[in-house]
Amino acid sequence: MKLLIAVDMEGISGVVNWSQVTPGHAEYERFRHIMTADVNAAVAGAAQAGAEEIIVADGHWDGCNVLIEELDPRARLHSGNAAPLAMTQGIETGVDAVIFIGYHARVGSEAANLDHTWSSVRVANLWLNDRIMGETELNSSLCGHFGAPVLMISGDQTVCAQAAEWIPGIETAVVKRATSRYSAECLQPQVSQKLIIETVASAVTKFLAGKGPAPIKVEVPVKVAIEFNTSAQADGAALFPGAKRLRGRKVEVQFEDMLTAFKAFRSLVNLGDR
Ligand SMILES: [Zn+2]
Repeated sequence: MKLLIAVDMEGISGVVNWSQVTPGHAEYERFRHIMTADVNAAVAGAAQAGAEEIIVADGHWDGCNVLIEELDPRARLHSGNAAPLAMTQGIETGVDAVIFIGYHARVGSEAANLDHTWSSVRVANLWLNDRIMGETELNSSLCGHFGAPVLMISGDQTVCAQAAEWIPGIETAVVKRATSRYSAECLQPQVSQKLIIETVASAVTKFLAGKGPAPIKVEVPVKVAIEFNTSAQADGAALFPGAKRLRGRKVEVQFEDMLTAFKAFRSLVNLGDR
């Protein structure tokens, strides 16, 4: 079994504010160790349950957060930015299943640490086929395009609830209870990492027994709609071929499949660079 562990940083054990996940801050350097330890917990749980090949995709910021020298040697690390498939780079290599570690809720969520969708300065809302989505839903839909289900997620209680609503049967490890955007009651990392090991092991065991979540299959064609934070950002994205300006800050485009929709989503966000 080949497993992809896609890791973000906002939902890592103990994280509650931007300085802890932003390069250049002293706190960030502390939390890179904790992020790597959360990933190692997932690797340990997966290996214990029978995963033979494990790739870790570092999906936060510039993709250079996980400390490779501290990574469990049973895993390989995809590092850096901007890889074509971003947070789930490696999914195109014939992965059987996926684990999300350190995820966060979509933009506009209540009681959700560092809630945002892709870019907190650009994206005010994202819809696929008229349904509001965050990174969990978007990335799991891309995994589904390649036939791989997402088996497990770690983060705060709000991202775990959003994942459970979108992916029936997903296992969740709630490592903190968010009480606002910038506060949470956090498990001590040794405790949360034990929880991650157990949850991943359970999810992978079920998968190998033929149970657990199915791959997410988004209906095609796929309509991607983005509401930007400013009308100037929407001006940029509206230049995309086939784009419809639904209102001042909202742009919509339709694509033949989820892979094209995903790549186009990233292009649209980049066009909103103003
Ligand atoms: Zn992130």
